[in-house]
Amino acid sequence: MRDSDPQEWLVCRNVHVRLVEFETLPGAIYLSKKGNYYIIINDRLAFPERQKTLLHEIKHLLDHIEAPGLYILGDDFSAIEREAEEFAYEIFKKVEGLS
Ligand SMILES: [Zn+2]
Repeated sequence: MRDSDPQEWLVCRNVHVRLVEFETLPGAIYLSKKGNYYIIINDRLAFPERQKTLLHEIKHLLDHIEAPGLYILGDDFSAIEREAEEFAYEIFKKVEGLS
């Protein structure tokens, strides 16, 4: 395994990222009964928005998801949504500062 490859890193941990075309939903995360995570990102988003959505869903994966199922945590203003948004924003800001 090449640990330096982020895609490889995710796949080795049963995390799969898929681009899907949605009307408005930015993203979602699905945990299968076999323990595979599918992070679903709206194909219509511009690249920076896709990155932020990926980070947002990763925060849910790390801290919020406990049981198999589809999590469309969308755009309500619950505490976990705010937490995921803040996580995504903080990392995104740091990464942007690197270029
Ligand atoms: Zn969310």
